[in-house]
Amino acid sequence: MALIVQKYGGTSVGSAERIKAVAERVKASVDAGNALVVVVSAMAKTTDGLVQLAHEVSENPSRREMDMLLSTGEQVTIALLSMALQHLGQPAISLTGAQVGIVTEPAHTRARILDIATERMKRHLAEGKVVVVAGFQGITNTADLEVTTLGRGGSDTSAVALAAALQADLCEIYTDVPGVLTTDPRLVETASLLAEITCDEMLELASLGAKVLHPRAVEIARNYGVQMVVRSSWSDEPGTKVIAPGIAPRSLQNLELGRPVDGVRFDLDQAKVALLRVEDRPGIAAHLFGVLARQQVNVDLIIQSIHDGNTNDIAFTVDRASLPRAEAVSTAFGPMLQQQRGDSLDQTEVMVDREIAKISIVGAGMIGRPGIAAQMFRTLADANINLQMISTSEVNVSCTIAKQDCDLAIATLCAQFEVDSSPAQTAIDPNWPAVRGVALDLKQARLAIRNVTDRPGMAAHIFQKLAAANISVDMIIQSQRSRSTHGVITRDIAFTVPQIDLAIARTLLEDISKELGGAEVAADSDIAKVSIVGMGMLGRPGVAAQMFEALANRNINIQMIATSEIRVSCVVSKSQGVDALQAIHQTFALGQVQKVEIPA
Ligand code: ASP
Ligand code: MG
Repeated sequence: MALIVQKYGGTSVGSAERIKAVAERVKASVDAGNALVVVVSAMAKTTDGLVQLAHEVSENPSRREMDMLLSTGEQVTIALLSMALQHLGQPAISLTGAQVGIVTEPAHTRARILDIATERMKRHLAEGKVVVVAGFQGITNTADLEVTTLGRGGSDTSAVALAAALQADLCEIYTDVPGVLTTDPRLVETASLLAEITCDEMLELASLGAKVLHPRAVEIARNYGVQMVVRSSWSDEPGTKVIAPGIAPRSLQNLELGRPVDGVRFDLDQAKVALLRVEDRPGIAAHLFGVLARQQVNVDLIIQSIHDGNTNDIAFTVDRASLPRAEAVSTAFGPMLQQQRGDSLDQTEVMVDREIAKISIVGAGMIGRPGIAAQMFRTLADANINLQMISTSEVNVSCTIAKQDCDLAIATLCAQFEVDSSPAQTAIDPNWPAVRGVALDLKQARLAIRNVTDRPGMAAHIFQKLAAANISVDMIIQSQRSRSTHGVITRDIAFTVPQIDLAIARTLLEDISKELGGAEVAADSDIAKVSIVGMGMLGRPGVAAQMFEALANRNINIQMIATSEIRVSCVVSKSQGVDALQAIHQTFALGQVQKVEIPA
């Protein structure tokens, strides 16, 4: 007999008919010999309706009363589903978050789960009952019973947390789509269903805006090794398996407040190549990385900084064995472009640095905690370590530093985040596709601060200020080109932030610029960010090149490039975003995975 946690989203329980259909499905699973805990959302549109009502009676309703109000939506569904089950002759009992004992932080409307009592659920399961639990809600403690909610979309998180606490065999997330798709089907007709995806890939995609799963739910699944499947409540199709890594058991206390950083990784086998003042036009990155791929050069980090006038700086790291080939290709590149143009001036400059180390912090808990990257920069700055390249995603921050600083960097970061270090991951499953999914984010803006003094602590200073304002920063890029004015070396730092945070971020940056004596601030919200995600790109040359080439073939100019281990992101102009997404989806043949019909 297996213990299964099933979660049904709002549309799956959107009417009496649908609730009856869900009851049938639950009963069938019990009849097949399983014990079931079922987590439900509020009926479709209920929560939105309640939010609207609140705003009709008050301009600024208190967060406590919002929780009191919104938590009622799920209470309706648990009672109805239990009745429907009982009507089918299946014993069932509904429980609110308080009745289960789901204890959260006191942060109303966005609480994280701390602890889940399992005794009562286990007792009812032993009595042969299906336990129907209200998703999205908890209480602050067992004395005051103050009701909290986890934030919109939070019932996925409730379900996976219950599965972790109960050590369930499986957590099934039922929704109105057939599973996890390769990309957004509204933008790409050929979007296909994935049979499986790893938690790490899902986290990258969820943090890029893929809506099917609440990122916090994936975070818990990854940290506690919960096996999950996402499938449609309208069919019997198997859906998408979300593969959790095998992990050492960890404490269930402070479930969602576990350490935000899982580990520190380092790689001493890398060298850095930078090309300065490369022409800024479509096809350049594709050309360069295409030649490198054909030479079997294994490129890891890539960054292309904002262009300054009409040139770009492109920097990348390669494993040391590939360096001679990478260097040869790079030195030949400028003259080759010059020959193509037929002019006499080649201003490209190549810089090679053999004495570098790459150091990364990784962990699902960084999602939604913008202070973590800043904390890493601060820790390194306090140890007087200068950052060369920075490249971030929401689950990974990597920097290159001087090789001689590596031991010190590892020691201080491990102490700061209370974790162990390990060499960078290289072993991968050869069956994993290079690219699992593609995402487009049209809600980002780009900010740049130019002429920042190049000394330890600058990045820490800037990103700590932004983190204090709770602004999540993505794609941080520090330029490779340095200027020297009156003997002071300066660099540019560019990054993306959510558009809604642009005004605040810009003001903060302008303040910093004044402090620093007038560094120039530039902002652009007319951008789109396209990303590819896949564990299989680790150690496989040519994946980024193929993405760049797809863009070049459509004559799309790449404004910024940043990579993390399993993701490559490019910033292009907003008007070309959808075109870029379609081109990339096609180039990786993702439309051939398995085509799906999306219900209206
Ligand atoms: N009912 C809540 C919402 O609409 C929680 C959920 O459905 O996941 O956000
Ligand atoms: Mg939902």
